[in-house]
Amino acid sequence: MTLVNFTPIYCGRSDGETEIRSKKYGKEYNGPSNDQLDKVANPDDYYETLDHDHQITVEWKRQLGVMLQREMRAQTESPWFLMFFPENYRLYKHHKGVRDNTDAYLYGYPQGRKKRFKTAQEFFPHFLWLMEGKSEDYGDCPCRNCAGDWVHKIEPLPGRGGYVPPLKEFAAPSRDSVPLKKEPVQVKRDTPLPQPKVVIQQRAPQQTSTLPRLPSKTPAGTSTSTAANKPPAQPVISPNPLPPVKSREQQLDAEYRRYIYRIGELVWFNRGTAWGLAIIIKRDTIRDSGPQSSGPRARYLVQPLSHPYLHPEPKLMSSNDSLRPWLAWSAPGPTHRALTGKSFATVDWKTVLAGECGPGDAEVDGSIFAAKQLDESFSLLSPLANNTITTGERTYLAMYLGGEKIYVGDPVRLRINQGQDIMVVHQIIEKLKPNSTNINLASVYLIGDIYRFASIPFDPANTTSLINPHLPPRMKTDLEFRNSVTVPPKRVQSFWRIIQSSARLTVSDLKGRWYESSILLPILRTSSVFAADIQRGEITDVGDWINGRGDANAAAGKMGTRFRERLEALGKAVPPTLRLGDGSDNGEGGIEGSTGNGTPNASAAKPSPKPAPAATSSYPETQAIGQQSGQRPKETKLSQYMDLDKSGG
Ligand SMILES: [Zn+2]
Repeated sequence: MTLVNFTPIYCGRSDGETEIRSKKYGKEYNGPSNDQLDKVANPDDYYETLDHDHQITVEWKRQLGVMLQREMRAQTESPWFLMFFPENYRLYKHHKGVRDNTDAYLYGYPQGRKKRFKTAQEFFPHFLWLMEGKSEDYGDCPCRNCAGDWVHKIEPLPGRGGYVPPLKEFAAPSRDSVPLKKEPVQVKRDTPLPQPKVVIQQRAPQQTSTLPRLPSKTPAGTSTSTAANKPPAQPVISPNPLPPVKSREQQLDAEYRRYIYRIGELVWFNRGTAWGLAIIIKRDTIRDSGPQSSGPRARYLVQPLSHPYLHPEPKLMSSNDSLRPWLAWSAPGPTHRALTGKSFATVDWKTVLAGECGPGDAEVDGSIFAAKQLDESFSLLSPLANNTITTGERTYLAMYLGGEKIYVGDPVRLRINQGQDIMVVHQIIEKLKPNSTNINLASVYLIGDIYRFASIPFDPANTTSLINPHLPPRMKTDLEFRNSVTVPPKRVQSFWRIIQSSARLTVSDLKGRWYESSILLPILRTSSVFAADIQRGEITDVGDWINGRGDANAAAGKMGTRFRERLEALGKAVPPTLRLGDGSDNGEGGIEGSTGNGTPNASAAKPSPKPAPAATSSYPETQAIGQQSGQRPKETKLSQYMDLDKSGG
């Protein structure tokens, strides 16, 4: 096989926006609308987000590289390849009808989704204007969006935005019609790091907010041309070392494949005929005896959520397959239609139990309302340093964020940028209002390093230089797995590219915990689907398959209500005697003592509850919801549960 050398190109300047302000609708996502992205509602006409290493993305970036090379008359033997689109620009594929449509559109232009670019050729003049960095005046950009149509009545100059021969003219011609993805360009270099050919100065790091920044017309002639005249080296962003581990529980939760779920977290649990909602109260690992015994296996004691007047006993879940993260699915509405729009606190549970709200399942509704209350909540725990006198700040080791528990040192998924980035949390900080000790008035923010998943053609010479010693161990191991999937068949290598170090974000910028694709995907998508993907050299990011905090609750991007502690946020949805953990800081154990002969009985104070009336329950049934597991959570909407209810009788 003939290998293709190429020269990596980076674009350090961008005007791309993920959100814009629209007169009519206020803030608007600068991409396809939610409706257009909804594959379930519109199976014949929808948009798909394309990953960095999707063959169409790679082809666009290759064409842009080659066009830029021609434009700059660069005499290098290897073709240029644009490593990343300018920040906040993103490709979407339009699936329409049954024909194999390969229409893709690049969104991100700061005047909104209607100004998307339809081809790499169409985007090229704007890309060139960004790359050259000579002007901040959009009037100087000759692209269709900036300059208007009249410019484009003129024949393009030779080379500019012109035809780019397909890759196979550079590469081995034997593999006809094999898409680029399967025939990737391979770098062959002696230098360990890609040498950027063209680097244009990065803008000062943007405030990591989602506020739109509309294009500002800078008068021509201002001295903005320094960047192009003497391109300085791209500023080096260095990751910060991981904060030290402070507790055994934190240590356990930092380990790859030890526990998926954490004490105090909200989960879906399989209750036999249906899935319910519960809180993890204890956990440990056991080793199966017998000849086919593998490694230790996690098991969890969970407290099902309910209404205030009846609390089911804790259940012992000894298989990962019988639990799901809260964010894996969206909770349905209440089974009592009359309760729609209410909250756990505003429901009069006695009237519900008396049957005055019509048919329904009070226990199920209690769990749904409790889960939503929890999703909106957050609590800080394990204070570390207290500087309230000097700076008014306190730092914490961990926090409950919605359904989940997050430690300092953990990766979290972010809402900012395109919702694809993650942050490794280094500090959780509470800043009190001056002269106040009221925590509800305090602002809470997190400091950490922001990373983006990036894929490049595999080069063995890069492997060591791409290793980041400051990544959390779970991310490292997961990355090794993902590369072991994609490198051999596709020659595509991925890494976590640092975007910003010591960034400061608020609680509302967080989607939730980051999970290992290598661990959660086989559970969410079933192991057979996962195995088939692996076979093809494909592994998606598990973040694409789960919600963000508040997504299912009309509270996405909201800070929510702070509670002093987790049990306060759970309120009467759990027995008043409930304790999280076994009273030690071990982070595991205590199940044996509370289960007796395998019958969990942590809250013996209550009389035995009636079994959940699963047969008559309109709660999503195991099978129905189980089959949803291969679908993205946004597709598991309330309406579908309603439909299931009708068809399920
Ligand atoms: Zn332009």
